[in-house]
Amino acid sequence: MDDFAVVCRGLTKTFDGEIPAVYDLDLEVREGEILALLGPSGCGKTTTLRLIAGFIRPDAGEIAIAGRMVAGGGRFVPPEKRGVGMVFQEHALFPHLTAAENIAFGLDGKDSSRQIAYLLRLTGLERFGDRYPHELSGGERQRVALARALATKPVLILLDEPFSNLDADRRAQVREDVRAILKATGSTAVFVTHDQEEALFLGDRLAVMDRGRIVQTGAPDEIFHTPQTRFVAEFIGSTDFLPGVVREDGVETEIGLLDQRLDLPPGTEVEVAVRFDDVVFEQSEAGESMVLARHFKGAYNIYRLRLPSGRLLHAMKAHTELIRPGTPVRIRLEPGHPLACYHLGQAVANRK
Ligand code: ATP
Repeated sequence: MDDFAVVCRGLTKTFDGEIPAVYDLDLEVREGEILALLGPSGCGKTTTLRLIAGFIRPDAGEIAIAGRMVAGGGRFVPPEKRGVGMVFQEHALFPHLTAAENIAFGLDGKDSSRQIAYLLRLTGLERFGDRYPHELSGGERQRVALARALATKPVLILLDEPFSNLDADRRAQVREDVRAILKATGSTAVFVTHDQEEALFLGDRLAVMDRGRIVQTGAPDEIFHTPQTRFVAEFIGSTDFLPGVVREDGVETEIGLLDQRLDLPPGTEVEVAVRFDDVVFEQSEAGESMVLARHFKGAYNIYRLRLPSGRLLHAMKAHTELIRPGTPVRIRLEPGHPLACYHLGQAVANRK
């Protein structure tokens, strides 16, 4: 267990109901790694984080932090003895203490002016040490909270939806800052989010959760391009699913043949995961599909298209090419890479 900063084995926690919030969960976090726990509301992300922090006891399973068993086998190390720093979404700063004093609180009263100066510099807050929380922006408060969590030199930082209180335009900058600070300090971090874009940007690795379990872990591009289940594909990256039938030479769909040979017998029904950049369409009087709506995204537009079957599919085009709703169009798949295909909800391998 000691090559990892965190190891969870068979973690299970049930609150009042019969359905466990976390069930038989295995998780490993490498030293220096930022791991994003991602999943829909109620899937057990925060419960997992709180189990690791020691705020709640598991019903079953084990947790080791930096090679030391902190829960399981009759042992339970309390949160303050786990060497873990926490950053919450509401920052939890003391309103009557300045930024520097808030950070000093993390240092437990030790003489620490050099350490505070270092942490203020690290988090880009040199000029704000004397300010009170209400005199700081949301992003600055978030950096104070991170500096306070880092002050104790924890072996692990846990962040629970750390950016959800920030405006959309500020979030991007703050998460870049936070990632840079975590990397500069070589910190190991686990953070919880339901925002896939945030997870893809911030995580070195992602762990996708569904109903108390981790269903897939991997690097961001691996999770994005090869979701192992339909659930993961649906959760990551605005995916449409197109029914298809396996043929010797590809997968037959209602908008043509996908040039991809699957490792399934011909005639098997599958679902093809299609994202808006995998589809090409053009205006055509003879087209059997139709543009229903256009969503302006700035540099490009996303079009909602109705296929001959009535099924909906989304596709993008550069902002320079406008097509009106109501226009008949012809659509084809042109992904330029293999598409993920699913049979009974599970990813299908391509034929070698
Ligand atoms: P969200 O993204 O909405 O914060 P989450 O994935 O973090 O969700 P959890 O907060 O871990 O989900 O909750 C998982 C399940 O456990 C939910 O069904 C929730 O209602 C339940 N739960 C969490 N904490 C408690 C508690 N203290 N008492 C009873 N049930 C709880």
